[in-house]
Amino acid sequence: MTSTPARKPALAILGKRNLELGPFALDAAAQEPAPWAHWCLRTDADGIAWLLFDKKDSSANTLSEAVLAELNDVLGKLEHDAPRGVVIRSAKPSGFAAGADIAQFRGVTDIANLEMLLARGHAVLDRLDRLPTTTIAVIHGYCLGGGLELALACDYRIAIDDASFGFPEVLLGLHPGLGGTVRLPRLINPVAAMTMMLTGRTERARRARRLRLIDTVTQERHVRGAVRAAVDGELRRSKQGFAGALLNSKPARRLLAPRMAGEAAKRAPRAHYPAPYALIELWVEHGGDAEAMREAEIASFAKLLVGDTAQNLVRVFFLRENLKKLAGGAWQGRRVHVIGAGTMGGDIAAWCAWQGFFVTLADTNRNAIGGAVRRAAELYGKIGRDNRRRVRDALDRLIPDIRGDGAANADLVIEAVPENLELKRKIFAAVEPRMKPGAVLATNTSSIPLEELRQDLARPQRFVGIHFFNPVSRMQLVEVVGHDQAAPEVLAEARGFLGGIDRLPAPVKSAPGFLVNRALTPYLLEALVMLDAGVKKEAIDKAAKDFGMPMGPIELADEVGLDVCLHVAETLRGSLRRDMPEAPQWLKDKVAKGELGKKTGKGLYDWKDGRAVKSHEDAAPPADATDRLILPMLDACVNCLREGVVADEAVLDGAMIFATGFAPFRGGPLHYARSRGIAEVRDTLKRLAAQYGPRFAPDPGWDSLR
Ligand code: NAD
Repeated sequence: MTSTPARKPALAILGKRNLELGPFALDAAAQEPAPWAHWCLRTDADGIAWLLFDKKDSSANTLSEAVLAELNDVLGKLEHDAPRGVVIRSAKPSGFAAGADIAQFRGVTDIANLEMLLARGHAVLDRLDRLPTTTIAVIHGYCLGGGLELALACDYRIAIDDASFGFPEVLLGLHPGLGGTVRLPRLINPVAAMTMMLTGRTERARRARRLRLIDTVTQERHVRGAVRAAVDGELRRSKQGFAGALLNSKPARRLLAPRMAGEAAKRAPRAHYPAPYALIELWVEHGGDAEAMREAEIASFAKLLVGDTAQNLVRVFFLRENLKKLAGGAWQGRRVHVIGAGTMGGDIAAWCAWQGFFVTLADTNRNAIGGAVRRAAELYGKIGRDNRRRVRDALDRLIPDIRGDGAANADLVIEAVPENLELKRKIFAAVEPRMKPGAVLATNTSSIPLEELRQDLARPQRFVGIHFFNPVSRMQLVEVVGHDQAAPEVLAEARGFLGGIDRLPAPVKSAPGFLVNRALTPYLLEALVMLDAGVKKEAIDKAAKDFGMPMGPIELADEVGLDVCLHVAETLRGSLRRDMPEAPQWLKDKVAKGELGKKTGKGLYDWKDGRAVKSHEDAAPPADATDRLILPMLDACVNCLREGVVADEAVLDGAMIFATGFAPFRGGPLHYARSRGIAEVRDTLKRLAAQYGPRFAPDPGWDSLR
């Protein structure tokens, strides 16, 4: 038996959701203390045991060594008591279980020990699987990763209609490790099973039902009835059909595997992301033999977890958590007023309304507001396909405001008019006196120092930069820019607001280009230098993609817009530390001609159906091309650290990953530099400087990194 101190189940938190908890639904005060820290067990009048999963000191259930050890203990008791049935349910309003406790994955190096722990976890779920009584998982909210593996070890899965199911392990460079690769392809169509595991996609309850992953979808009020039906054998169990079994046969697996590997390669090259390929190999080799698959799953999972990719992706998970924490508690504001309904302002307004805020959108140009509302409707149509009510409500909350009346009631006013100091100052002079005294005034400027923008403000302490990236709905990171007179609590409010709209805040100092544009500029300019020297644009992009960037710098420049890039580069060039190459004249000519990139159909590439037309796809990049592109970006990051533009390496690495897509499997620019070796990177920069010029000379900040 466990020695954990007895406690009462935390039923109080269940209040709002009204979960059907069988015998636990009684007055919480009447509950006897539970002998386990994470589980509570009670048998109802029908002789059905209800096992509540309620991880201690945690808002969500995750599977850890301790949780599984206790479950093993509970199972021993259930084997002895032999109830008529066992229901496993979460006591957390957020859902059934969010997966494994990822903190346990950090810094793991000992494969043998890991295999032993995994085998122990398997043994617990196998014991549940073998329990000589009907086992039923009742699932609401998230049922992910290890949580789904727990549910799969039950005889029945009954879902509440808000439940969602998935195996997101692949996003951490892993595949399921507690029997998921064994059980899922035997329960549902194996191709659908592999797709779920290879993509990490989450399936809603109704689709999960169609996939036969669950046996029924119901509502809280019918849970008891569904449980009783399952125990009485009246609920039909989903089973893999004949076609499914056929697809799991060896010849079918052999036939299907190359297609799956081909699809995986489009998203994640094997050299950078080994997990999908390991999973496909597992299935091909052992898909027909559960016992062999189980053993191979353990070995494969352990090998992946100690590898660089998984460890770096686990790091990225915590970098995200770190940024999320910076958002702090909930922001109290409800109303946002956006001035300027162009590319950025329109999209910021749309995103805020989607996230539940009341938004007024002002512009001197009526058509701009109309365009922004149309774009919002298109966006909502895509992201809210299966939630028409949310779409309607969001559109209701997005209010065109040609006269700018919304400023008076807003808790936050965001300015997103063209990048012009005088214009922005004029806007502030007009809007600040109309704002509530406690409201926050923010600018979306990319390059104007906040010290210059705040000069004539009556309340400069309530003024901040909130620098979104384009497109707002897809770029998770937002820089929160301070200045010499910004009040810390206002910066905290700005970060809280970003938490409220599901974005990640990165606090940065008001310095030219802040962090992200400052780091990207040398990368983009070096690409142009190479282009000028006759290197094919496809080869330049390939050099960056081979490193792991989501797209190459030439394609990125076209995506962002050559006019925007040129403007940022020209503004930053003068203020950055040393000679940056000047943007070539031909680029200025292109911009003057209106060849701005993707948005005009022609830029550095020609664009067709939203894609760059690449005619020299096979062109090989010069041997040093990747270093020439990536190392100046790293150098700019080190420079930002040294100058205090960003507080620490964790924020820096997180910001670069979530704003630029910097190769996540490398764990961030600074982490990459450390893994490669600080001295080696610095020496390479020196060599490049000797060959190509002083723009590569390493920043003095490298000397203080250890
Ligand atoms: P934009 O030209 O697309 O939109 C600006 C809008 O402001 C236009 O609709 C215009 O009619 C309106 N406007 C002009 N004067 C106005 C006034 N007096 N009152 C109200 N509205 C007025 O510009 P954008 O690309 O959205 O950039 C806006 C700001 O965001 C700039 O500061 C820019 O540096 C910054 N930014 C842009 C990007 C980007 O990728 N475009 C990314 C990050 C930040």
